[in-house]
Amino acid sequence: MNFCEDCVGDEYLADCIRMNGEDDACDSPNCPNPDKTVPTLNIDTLTEVIRPRFHEHFEKTRSEPNGLEYMMLKDKELGYDWYREGEPLENILGDYLGLPEPFVDALLKTLPDNDYDSAIGGYETELDSEGMFEDVLPRLGVYNGLWREFCDIATRQARHFNSRVRTLLDEIFGDIVDRDPDGQIVVTIGPDNGVASLYRARDFSCTEKAEKAFLNPTQELGPPPPGGVSFGRMNAVGVSMFYGATDTDTTLAEIRPPVGYFVASAKFDITRPLRVLDLGALGKIVDMLSKSQLDPENARHLDRQAFFLTLDAELARPVDPEKSANAYLPTQILSDYVANCLGLDGMIYKSAQGGTGRNVVLFPCACRVEQPNYPEGTSRKFGISQLSEDFDDIELYADIETPTDAELQELQKKQSDWEYHAFGESEVDSDTREVSLSFDDDSLQYHRVTSVQVYVETQPVRYNVGQRREDKDFPF
Ligand SMILES: [Zn+2]
Repeated sequence: MNFCEDCVGDEYLADCIRMNGEDDACDSPNCPNPDKTVPTLNIDTLTEVIRPRFHEHFEKTRSEPNGLEYMMLKDKELGYDWYREGEPLENILGDYLGLPEPFVDALLKTLPDNDYDSAIGGYETELDSEGMFEDVLPRLGVYNGLWREFCDIATRQARHFNSRVRTLLDEIFGDIVDRDPDGQIVVTIGPDNGVASLYRARDFSCTEKAEKAFLNPTQELGPPPPGGVSFGRMNAVGVSMFYGATDTDTTLAEIRPPVGYFVASAKFDITRPLRVLDLGALGKIVDMLSKSQLDPENARHLDRQAFFLTLDAELARPVDPEKSANAYLPTQILSDYVANCLGLDGMIYKSAQGGTGRNVVLFPCACRVEQPNYPEGTSRKFGISQLSEDFDDIELYADIETPTDAELQELQKKQSDWEYHAFGESEVDSDTREVSLSFDDDSLQYHRVTSVQVYVETQPVRYNVGQRREDKDFPF
């Protein structure tokens, strides 16, 4: 039986017939091209095109109750009734895939495959016409495989000059910016956008140690100067980035302060639009699917989506960097890639500590904080007034006194004399990066950690006590 492109009801199959079909008469009873010679494909050929796609998109549902359901069925008082989930093959082909009836009828004869083992045993065959099916997110494992290979190279092989790393990341992420026209995955944050400010916190074992942070919060709570930075989840040693969160609670959860510690927290306003990759939104790439579920590219897209849906959680997985400095290498390389190859300013990702908000990392190009413009000669003093042990009775203050006009004039005169004699020009700021953040003076807060709540999942440990069997090879 032959079908022409007008009688299969699916764009991908129609393309296959147009490109590979042999000129013949179409055998579909409703064919709009009766008695004409048109490109056609035989039903057997079409079946072999559909079969692998069918297995990618649909799975057979359970044909029998599981243990718990069986127990519930036996208990008459429950009034529990079991029925098999899913849709019959005919509905999947007709309703889900939108194929026309004569074509479905032909497929129902050819699609059930030669699963002789099951048939002989009296079991339901793989594509039994009596079977029930449900649609599943295709998991070809292609993208997962690419990611595993990347992680393996990143942690165990040459990573600095490795073109394979670039190829792998290109294949997984390379087209994201181009294929996200609505800005759902590459989102803009900053003034007049959803995320206009970011929160930061630092913990201190005692109030005295917090002194520097309160006197110079822009520097002490902002990103550390490049060079002397230790590595983090997203940054390599020496590369300074801004780690913030979308709310104070999340930033507090992220620094994991011990009970009894003091924490300084503050808000930084984003001063210009920044484009960041939202790792939690990567699953939205499904919008780029082709119309036909039978297009193999579709399964690849869905496989990518399935991989992306797990990536945010995987990247946020808590690791113990002290045990393995390698653990952060994949995320560090990924952030280098997102910054330098995709040209983005940062990433939004899940909090590993279960915070309510999201974490945001800003790359070096986008983490310069506007410095407070205090004139030279400004004096700073930090003080604590404590009336009792009660936290409410502790008051922190920072006095920042700028010089008097007379002192300023004197300073300026000294400086111009010095410049004239020394170099003839003033010192220039070597940091050419655009300012992206400004510290909100009024947001500085001081917390004391009074308790920490721990959420756990619990499993009992089972002891199997019994006399050892003499016959050690006996399998049961
Ligand atoms: Zn036709």
